[in-house]
Parts: sequence; C-alpha cells; structure tokens
Amino acid sequence: MGTSVLMPGFVRTEETLSCEGVALDAIARAVGTPVYVYSAAVIRDRYTRLTTALAGVPHRIHYSLKANSSRGLLDLLRSMGSNADVVSGGELFRARRAGFKPEEIVFGGVGKTREELSDAVREGVLLVNVESEGELRLLDEVAREAGRVAPVAIRVNPEISVETAHAYIKTGEKGNKFGVPYDEVVELARLAHALPNVTLAGLDMHVGSQLSHLQPYERGTERLVAICTQLRSEGIDTLRYLDVGGGLAVRYDAETPPDLTRFAEIMVGVAQATGLQLILEPGRFLVGDSAVLVTEVLYRKSSGGKEYVITDAGMTELLRPSHYNAYHRIEAVHETAGTVKADVVGPVCESGDFLALDREVADAAPGALLAVHGAGAYGYAMAMNYNSRRRPAEVLVDGDRYAVITRRETYEDLVRAERESPDWETA
Ligand SMILES: *Cc1c(COP(=O)(O)O)cnc(C)c1O
Repeated sequence: MGTSVLMPGFVRTEETLSCEGVALDAIARAVGTPVYVYSAAVIRDRYTRLTTALAGVPHRIHYSLKANSSRGLLDLLRSMGSNADVVSGGELFRARRAGFKPEEIVFGGVGKTREELSDAVREGVLLVNVESEGELRLLDEVAREAGRVAPVAIRVNPEISVETAHAYIKTGEKGNKFGVPYDEVVELARLAHALPNVTLAGLDMHVGSQLSHLQPYERGTERLVAICTQLRSEGIDTLRYLDVGGGLAVRYDAETPPDLTRFAEIMVGVAQATGLQLILEPGRFLVGDSAVLVTEVLYRKSSGGKEYVITDAGMTELLRPSHYNAYHRIEAVHETAGTVKADVVGPVCESGDFLALDREVADAAPGALLAVHGAGAYGYAMAMNYNSRRRPAEVLVDGDRYAVITRRETYEDLVRAERESPDWETA
C-alpha cells in the first residue's frame, strides 16, 4: 500500500471495499469474521468538526462511553482532547483505566447504586448528574462518609416532544423515566443548595438520541436557561456547567445530518445567556459512522417464497436492527453482478435475529463478505453472548495500518465467571 492516497472512511478501490488504506477482505482473512472495522480518520474528523463548530463557545466534549467503550477508541478520543461521560461503575472503571482523569469525567444514569455514587465521589469526578430527590440525598450521605463535597448537576426532564426513529431513544418527554420532572427541578435545586455535602454545580438534560433536527436542543436549553435565571434570582449562584447531553444524529439512510453551524449558534446563545460552560455528551455522532461490521455469507436459501441471506453475524453482534428496527446499509465487499430482495439474517435461534428485512441487497454467494455500515455506535457495545456466541473482534485502521484493538472472545471466555464446583453456604 505504501504511498496510497489515504481516504477517510470506507472507499471502493478497484473491486474491493477498503477502510482508509486497508482492504476489508485482507482484514477478514487475517482476523476472521464477524469483525468490526473502525476508521480512525472518521473519528478524528467528527471530533474536529464538532469542536471547531463550537470554537466560539466555552465548551467541554465528554464522549459518551455507552456508544462504544472499547479501549482502542477511548485512547483515540482522549488523544484528541475528549473528556468522558459514563453511566455506570463499569464505565467509570473503563474511563479511568484508559487514562481519563476524574475531573474529566461526568457520571450520569437513572439508577446509580450507593457503591457507584461512592466510587464517583471518592474518585472526585467533575460532576454527578442526579435524577431524583432520593439519589440527591444518597449522594449527600455518601459524600459525607467520604469527607467530600460532591459537585452535582440536576438532570432536568425538559418535557418536550422529540422526533426520533424509535420510541426507545426518546428520553426527554413528559412521563419518561429519565430526569427530574420540569416543575420539580427548582425545588430540588434548592435542596441541593441547602445540603452540606453537595454543591449545585450544573443543570443537565439529554433529550434523546439520533436527533437530526435541532429544535429539541433549542427548546430544551431554553427551559434550562429559565431554571438558571430563577435560581440566580433566589441568590443561588453556584452553577458552573450547563450539560446539554448527547443525541446528535448520524446518517444511516436518508436522514438529514444535524447542521453543526446552527447547533453552535444555539449553544452560543445559551452560553451568553447564562455565562456557564457548556458540556456536550456526544456518543453516536463521534463514532457511529466510523465502522462497518464485516460478515461472511454462510448460506443462501429460499423458504415460503422468500429469499434468505444467512450470515455469520446477527443480533448478537449488532442488535440495533432487531431492538430498534434500525436501518443499516449493507454492501458487498466485492461487488456482485446483481441484487436480490432478501432478508439478511444471522445464525441465532430467534426469528427476530436479522440485519435487514425485505431489502434489495447484493446477490452474494456463500463465502462472500458483506459490510454492514454505520456500526460504530451501539454495535460492539451491545454485542452479547446469547446462544453462547463469542463476541467478535474489533480492528482499528489508521491510514495503511491496522491493529486488533479487541480480540475475538474464546470459548474459555464464555465460562470464565462460572464455578465448576460451587461453594455451598448457609446464610
Ligand atoms: C446515551 C447518552 C448519551 C449519548 O447519546 P448519543 O445519542 O449517542 O449521543 C449522552 N448522555 C446520556 C446521559 C446518555 O444516556
């Protein structure tokens, strides 16, 4: 490859599909399938685009680990200057292990345990986003036990209607489990101000995921600004951060990508109105477009007048199609002569195990490789061991080099936590 022109992302060179300067079939031969292949250039590009668009706004980008918490991607994002947003003790562990400092980490999530709150406080994270009065009081208690004062933000449910591709990715509508109901926020903020072991450092929202339109950010932040103004009029003036959450969309099919210039305009307005530093928690936007899942066609068959392409990847590797009815573009690594209308299905014993339904796809024979696009976010992170399937490998491509950043699991990995002869005890 040597001096090839290095393209960001996925490009067709001669008759094979490549990631930057590396042919996907070469990776499949070396590492096996199914395999996730990520483009470092795409991640760098998205991070740079976002932070450049926001150059005029005091802001911090906290990558949402939930989208993909693999070490290789965390290292890359951290090297770009990203901070971290975590929603569990496990993600806090991963973030710290990857080298994020406590003050670079925001801790959110609707159901944090006492242990998780205690770990977050003892580590000294930048902000704990709380979602209920019970959690706020528990945080105050664990902070007292730790001899600390915990910086807290209240996650506001702005109670706005949002348009998302699937109901499961709406998080800021009235009656939703997330955040504090809008008309209870001021009272909870007063409580946070009064409690001795927490300091009210921010307001937070996260209204949904895969948001192509910006009205939810506009209307949600308006509501946060109103709360900020109200609190200040009461003399509560400890706020430093306004956390607008994640949610920026990527293009899976024909969606309009979010207009970052307009997004930045909204954020400039919010920063000016409040004087606060903005926190963003993008997940999907930074990594969604960065990967394909490469899978091999195992069999073809027709049944009941329907054509099936059976691949070695399914819902256990990429859950989004069956969980969210999500669309992922599928392309043959080597171009085929024609196309066929088929269901692309995996090997899992579930009828809900599919990558695409009734789709015009490449007429690929057994042995052929398919690339499932847009697999960087909520792909590997949601991969599971159902049917005792081993989670796949992840490969990062950077220019004309590639590296395995996560090895394929072994059968031994599947049974690692199990006891062959359990120690029976009486309670
Ligand atoms: C999931 C989540 C994010 C990231 O959402 P994306 O749509 O991937 O940007 C950010 N913040 C919180 C609190 C989340 O739960």
